[in-house]
Amino acid sequence: MNYTFEPHPLVTIPVVGEDSLFPVHRLYCVGRNYEEHAKEMGYTGREAPFFFLKPTDSLIYVSPGSTAEMPYPSITQNFHHEIELVVAIGKGGRDIAAKDAQEHIFGYAVGLDMTRRDLQNDMKKQGRPWDIGKAFDHSAPMGPIVPKAQVHGLEDAEIALQVNNTFRQRSHINKLIWNIAETIEHLSKAWELKAGDLIFTGTPEGVNAVVKGDHLHGTVAGVGSIDVKVI
Ligand code: MN
Repeated sequence: MNYTFEPHPLVTIPVVGEDSLFPVHRLYCVGRNYEEHAKEMGYTGREAPFFFLKPTDSLIYVSPGSTAEMPYPSITQNFHHEIELVVAIGKGGRDIAAKDAQEHIFGYAVGLDMTRRDLQNDMKKQGRPWDIGKAFDHSAPMGPIVPKAQVHGLEDAEIALQVNNTFRQRSHINKLIWNIAETIEHLSKAWELKAGDLIFTGTPEGVNAVVKGDHLHGTVAGVGSIDVKVI
């Protein structure tokens, strides 16, 4: 049987130190997973983690040492950066206990959960889905995946974002409200995780707008850095 049209290419992300590509399945995101960010968004306290998804083809791969171009999206006047640690799942499962989560992790990457904040806020107010604010084209730049054996001290690593060489976000992975293992436990109750899934684990405080021409430099210590220019 023929396809009715040429299928869209499989979305893949290179793996550091390996001659292989990580084939991406789904792209999950955790909402409000750092306390100071929850506060700046008008919320307080430890709430159960919640999740949303982006289309897999919203990823932009950012090659180390180069600057990727990210188009300023349509229909927004408030385009926000959210620097995030990305967890790559190498072995699927459902109802994964936090104590077993480590064996399901393939590696880690640095990512940006770019957000049309004005549209997200409008949808929140109206009790409507967030998709138009979160799940738009080119909304998820990320760097290569570092296999977990090459990542050390992640629990206490700094996570930071500079815009035009000025720090906007600067925190530590140990400030996650729900840590990586707990996030996998919660997520795998709601969906069956599959090899190839990516989890954007949430952003610390300091989210703010970028405009055309801005240069974003995001880092997670021990994982890497990404450079993106808004065009
Ligand atoms: Mn986010």
